[in-house]
Amino acid sequence: MQEKTVYCLHCGKELIVSIRAVSTGCPVCNHRLSVEDFTVTSLLSRTLIETCGSVAIAPSGMLRACLRVNNLFVEGDHQGNVTAAGKVTLAAGASLAGNIIAHRLEVRDGALIKGFCRIDPQLELIPKPTPTPTPTPSGPNAKRQTAK
Ligand SMILES: [Zn+2]
Repeated sequence: MQEKTVYCLHCGKELIVSIRAVSTGCPVCNHRLSVEDFTVTSLLSRTLIETCGSVAIAPSGMLRACLRVNNLFVEGDHQGNVTAAGKVTLAAGASLAGNIIAHRLEVRDGALIKGFCRIDPQLELIPKPTPTPTPTPSGPNAKRQTAK
């Protein structure tokens, strides 16, 4: 069985899943994760697409969404900000309007980007989990437990 490595969008934990898996649960943070790879071949409009898998936009594809993905491969047209834990690839003729935050970026000759790029393999893409604040009994900022 073929497997792939994905990273939890919530805690960054490296997970090994079957390439045919659609979703999995993170053993560390217990979030349900989509690990699906999919290809956009026509117009698709979404507020946010989150997957630990890879998204490809075919030459005929037009995606309008904020993306949090592992890898993004664009041959068509994308509008929306992109956060990628892996690599963003823009093929010749690709068009991306939005800001890109990614570990790696490949832009082939003829691709178009309208936006800012922050490319850094060391970048912390996943916010470190904030330690649960332990309420101090008498502190002024102590969260009050309201019984309902
Ligand atoms: Zn996790």
